[in-house]
Amino acid sequence: MSSLPVDRSVRASHLAYRVCPLCEATCGLELTISDGAVSGVRGDRDDVFSKGFICPKGAAFDRLDNDPDRLRRPMVRDGRRWRETGWDEAFGIVAAGLGAVVAAHGRQSVGIYLGNPNVHTLAGGLYAGGLARALGSPNIFSASTVDQMPKHVSCGLMFGDPLAIPVPDLNRTAFLLILGANPLESNGSLATAADWPGRLKALRARGGRLVVVDPRTTRTAAMADQHLAIRPGTDSYLLAALANEIISSDLVALGDLADRVSGLEELPGLLEGFTAEVAGRVCGIPASTVAALARDLVAAPTAAVYGRIGTSTTQYGTIASWLVDVLNVLTGNLDRAGGAMFPLAPHRRPGTGSGRGFLLGRWSSRVRGCPEVKGELPAAVMAEEMSTPGHGQIRAMITVAGNPVLSTPDGGALDRALSGLELMVAVDPYLNETTRRAHVILPPPPPSRSAHHDLAFPDLAIHNTARFSPASLPLRDGDLDEATILARLTLIALGEPDAAPRLVDDRVIAQTLGDAVRDPRSPVYQRDPAELIGLLHGSNTAEQRLDMLLRLGAYGDGFGAGDDDGDGPEDASGTGHGGLSLQSLVEAPHGIDLGPLQPRIPEILKTPSGLIELAPPQIRQDLERLRAGIDARRDGLVLIGRRHLRSNNSWMHNLGVLNSGSNTCTLQMHPDTAAELGITDGADARVTSRSGEVTVPVEVTDGIRAGVVSLPHGWGHRLPGTRGSVAAARPGVNTNLLTDPLAMDPLSGTSVLNAIPVRVQPAPS
Ligand code: SF4
Repeated sequence: MSSLPVDRSVRASHLAYRVCPLCEATCGLELTISDGAVSGVRGDRDDVFSKGFICPKGAAFDRLDNDPDRLRRPMVRDGRRWRETGWDEAFGIVAAGLGAVVAAHGRQSVGIYLGNPNVHTLAGGLYAGGLARALGSPNIFSASTVDQMPKHVSCGLMFGDPLAIPVPDLNRTAFLLILGANPLESNGSLATAADWPGRLKALRARGGRLVVVDPRTTRTAAMADQHLAIRPGTDSYLLAALANEIISSDLVALGDLADRVSGLEELPGLLEGFTAEVAGRVCGIPASTVAALARDLVAAPTAAVYGRIGTSTTQYGTIASWLVDVLNVLTGNLDRAGGAMFPLAPHRRPGTGSGRGFLLGRWSSRVRGCPEVKGELPAAVMAEEMSTPGHGQIRAMITVAGNPVLSTPDGGALDRALSGLELMVAVDPYLNETTRRAHVILPPPPPSRSAHHDLAFPDLAIHNTARFSPASLPLRDGDLDEATILARLTLIALGEPDAAPRLVDDRVIAQTLGDAVRDPRSPVYQRDPAELIGLLHGSNTAEQRLDMLLRLGAYGDGFGAGDDDGDGPEDASGTGHGGLSLQSLVEAPHGIDLGPLQPRIPEILKTPSGLIELAPPQIRQDLERLRAGIDARRDGLVLIGRRHLRSNNSWMHNLGVLNSGSNTCTLQMHPDTAAELGITDGADARVTSRSGEVTVPVEVTDGIRAGVVSLPHGWGHRLPGTRGSVAAARPGVNTNLLTDPLAMDPLSGTSVLNAIPVRVQPAPS
């Protein structure tokens, strides 16, 4: 193995390019480096994906990177006192504590929670899954079950692969139907696209049409051709009615998918009764509007249906996610330019067109019996798994880059449960509302001091690219890179605390290359693994792992595989973009453009049938629950969430420029609702749910449907013992004191975070 020439020098002032790790849009940043720190940021105009776009969070990258409240050294808690310590002592305490818990209670007594920022670092992408598996426990949790798991489940059932998620082909579509998403504020989710504002404007400028379904008049809804202010939690009824309308009007047009689907003949029966009239009544949208929308969708030259958080974090989240892609199929828009397409990430290879399919419920949670989904249990059961005595009770917990006390249901119960653990270890740069309960905190360095490559988002990107960002700055004395932290924890979990961290990578590399040389479809078939290992580049073994993935991937150089077809070295993608390696990305600081999305059916399918399963049995069964809900009472006040452009994760509230002005934690409500409740703008209201209550200032706005109130998430920085001076000065309230841990979409285990029944009254003065 050899090293790449990564620039680790500290000059007076120079520029460095890196991909922003702060949200899914993955914009390219141009950093100014002065005096050993990031001193300025702007969008990288030459970035092949974002072309200079940047948002206020990315523009604050320097201040987030330099936040004085970030922890610099491992922290150990003795009672209520924290003290800094060295890395060896910290890992020693972890190894002893974890070993004692496992010896006394078994591996199932350890749990792990992986927060959302894990998917925004190279180390998180490479090691977090391995660490979870190394624990050998069923108690694996992540942010996915408060966010996106319904989409994984519906895609797993339909396409055989929970990671095969179609994304709207934003650059080419003529009609975009967005439900429950506000990409002008969130910058997109499960659809990676820098500059949503520019792309949606371009859609309309080329004569395309944008329809937004949302209870709020979000910034995205405000720019739409049509905005349907739906009743929260009812998107499945609207989507089912659209599909039913298309089928019953004989408007199904599968196009190239005609021979690729199974279960089409079952849809009329499954959707019977979900009419435009029913949707009109349930969703609060005129039936004629629903029927017209179905016709518009069919008539558009190309169209894509895209649903996000408002559709997935409801009691019918998986059904809604399934219906989104049923509509894309029925209108012939799945897997075609301008429709909903499957990206091909640089580290992936095209598939074989069939597989074993997607399994659910391979194990269940101990207390409530919630089924496993995609290798994890619902985050909503974490607290009860810690606090309920008995065999298998969680007694030790590892959190990696997460603040679940603020981001998962019934944060108060979780906070109490965490306080009773025998051991809690947090990999986190902040002493926050969750990590204050840890016994040991292991802080990774600021993002500028780590190399970066997104492993998750190229699977979701609306255009294929490849980018790599070397570390922009060297580690400081006393820093330990995140890869080494996670590798050492993995070895502790495996019972090898004294092994060298590189052993984790060496094993993965040996295993992956060993498999590849035995695979006739691999570009390295029948080659010598030892020779291939010697060809790997990278400044450390984590980067060498990445080099291996890129070179084996769809656009990879195949470790020098032949150029038989004249399109460059190995090119499994069929796009003519071959020859990718870590070296080639280092030499292209603004990234490499791998072209627009290409049709991928049938090779992407991993269903046993090799077909798109339009009527999976689990969905068929769950539709009865949807049908039973048609006549449910929907006249009460309900709470929904909302995003703000300057906020994403809770730690972003610890920066003045992001935690100020209009970025406030208020309870939005319509003037009619406010009048009915006797509440005025700016006054405090008490909000009560089945789970808890908060008192929060009211913001009266006509940009929300009457009968609906809205709170942003990630706030509630009032708890003692944290270290976030700016966040504590403008704390807001924790909306997850109101969310109900018992309310979830049963197929995906995902919490209901939208349409929560609440009572609102003026707060006592
Ligand atoms: S949109 Fe997302 S990726 Fe782009 S600059 Fe903002 S936070 Fe960073």
